[in-house]
Amino acid sequence: MLDLAVQAMAFLNDNYLKLQAGYLFPEIARRVKVFCENNPAAAERVIRCGVGDVTEPLPSAAVAAMHKAVEELGHRETFRGYGHEQGYEFLRSKIAQHDYRDRGVEIADDEIFLSDGSKCDCGFILDVLGHQNKVAIPDPVYPVYVDTNVMAGHTGGALANGSYEGILYLQCRAGNDFIPEPPQTHADLVYLCFPNNPTGAVASQEQLTAWVEYAREHKAILLYDAAYEAYISDSAIPHSIFEIPGAHGCAIEFRSFSKTGGFTGVRCGFTVMPKALKAQTEDGRELSLHPLWHRRWSTKANSVSYPVQRGAEALYNEEGQAQVRRLVAHYMGNARVLQDAALKAGMQVFGGTNAPYIWVKTPSGLTSWEMFDRMLQELYVVITPGSGFGSCGEGYFRISAFNSRENAEEVGRRLQTLG
Ligand SMILES: *Cc1c(COP(=O)(O)O)cnc(C)c1O
Repeated sequence: MLDLAVQAMAFLNDNYLKLQAGYLFPEIARRVKVFCENNPAAAERVIRCGVGDVTEPLPSAAVAAMHKAVEELGHRETFRGYGHEQGYEFLRSKIAQHDYRDRGVEIADDEIFLSDGSKCDCGFILDVLGHQNKVAIPDPVYPVYVDTNVMAGHTGGALANGSYEGILYLQCRAGNDFIPEPPQTHADLVYLCFPNNPTGAVASQEQLTAWVEYAREHKAILLYDAAYEAYISDSAIPHSIFEIPGAHGCAIEFRSFSKTGGFTGVRCGFTVMPKALKAQTEDGRELSLHPLWHRRWSTKANSVSYPVQRGAEALYNEEGQAQVRRLVAHYMGNARVLQDAALKAGMQVFGGTNAPYIWVKTPSGLTSWEMFDRMLQELYVVITPGSGFGSCGEGYFRISAFNSRENAEEVGRRLQTLG
């Protein structure tokens, strides 16, 4: 009877059990909690530069627009129900115009799909892509790409170094300036993230052109995460993969208002899905992905709430633009403070120029977690161990510039005292 009962039970998704137990941010939180409990006097001096979350309040242009939108919903004359499943035209047209066409990149309004954030989009995109695909992912990188592929059953189990069987890892090291080169072998899907989280690296026109050429040769799709494009200060660096000729036929771009408008809690991002992008069916027909992506949104979701879309729209007016520029300048000012301080402390420093992350080599051969513990115990500063972003991140740590200036300067001072 017991056997029958087991047989009759509903099944869970076993792929979730392959995920590494000690996921990065919960483990950081656990160690900080233990430290604070054991050192109550130090607890209030702890400065968190670990999680990549914004700290400054929302731009007032977005706040005013969201208030107004909520008020509209409270009156019969201006009430709105379900909006367009891809997002309202008023916002999609501003994105396509301002972020693309004004920069000489041809993107149509209906190639933009608004969502509640680009973390979500990175996972959702797998809905319209086949399970047969060979997936290539940079190492180290934002952990969402690997984990969503594990959840979807695209990998085997975890290996001893934390990597998963079946994924083609693209190694990013100081030797290649943390920019992965196209591999000698075949891949169908390639995740790229520039400016990079966690290394802060940016890819040049030539480096991205090599990737577009690889994708065209292999009929692969580039999944390009440009969440930090607003942080690019070097005018020669592309902001979008679609600045590269030929990319419309082989790339999908992810963008977010989280790090530009401080929307990590508000939630709004978008994908750019060019109509020219094709993938093959099981019987070898080449079809456009755009109608599938549209179908996915109209069936499983309905874009993002009206007040949030009005808030995002306000980031494109003159006042909103100035406020976004000030926010980015604030965080990049912190990045300079932290970069200078780490250099002055004799460390080997990367990133921090076109991205709000400083990527630092651990001194004296410490592992990433040993350095984490030292920074916490000696400096009361929380950083992110590089190994949490992939096995090639071992021996590095990330300092986030998302903080108040006061905290960034204090972290800079404490770095000078590291024994
Ligand atoms: C923060 C971040 C995002 C944004 O995610 P949201 O879900 O829009 O908040 C996307 N990609 C990377 C690499 C990030 O660091």
